[in-house]
Amino acid sequence: MKNVYINAAHSSFSPGGVWGKRTEHKDAVRFSEKLKRELLKYDICCEIFSGSIWNGFSNDDMILSFHRDGNMKNTEKYGASVLVPKNADAEIQYDAFRLLSALTGDMGFRNRGVHTFTEKSPFKSIEKSGSRNTFIFTLGFMDKDCDNRILDKNSDVLVKLFAYRLNKILKERENEDNA
Ligand SMILES: [Zn+2]
Repeated sequence: MKNVYINAAHSSFSPGGVWGKRTEHKDAVRFSEKLKRELLKYDICCEIFSGSIWNGFSNDDMILSFHRDGNMKNTEKYGASVLVPKNADAEIQYDAFRLLSALTGDMGFRNRGVHTFTEKSPFKSIEKSGSRNTFIFTLGFMDKDCDNRILDKNSDVLVKLFAYRLNKILKERENEDNA
């Protein structure tokens, strides 16, 4: 693994979904900064960037992108999910599952599962990143109080669990590389 990047999705100019005072970008930044601090405890340094995922990451880089969902159509959808590139192998899918599980335990969101990129998805940038280790998470639905409550109240615990899992995954990858 070369570098870990955190994408706090969207930007201050183009904040993504907006729900009351909440914006997707603000929520993503808050979560990303907490996660960055937590990863430092494992000596994992990472860079946070906003906007869309640019081209030209190396295949060994890991990109963790955080969005919020929201359908604003008053449906009953809620919970967190993760999207992986369409060429993602079993290992990537399993890692995606493990990372998502950190966000969906007792303190977390309902688990909406691991999804593979399809043409219908709005996250086309996932196919451009150049890295197979690209994970796009949605931290629950902005238009669902239950999801907002989890994000606002439990994110300290969730980033701890996420960082623990990520560290394990990176250690395993390192061991594979040295084997
Ligand atoms: Zn988004």
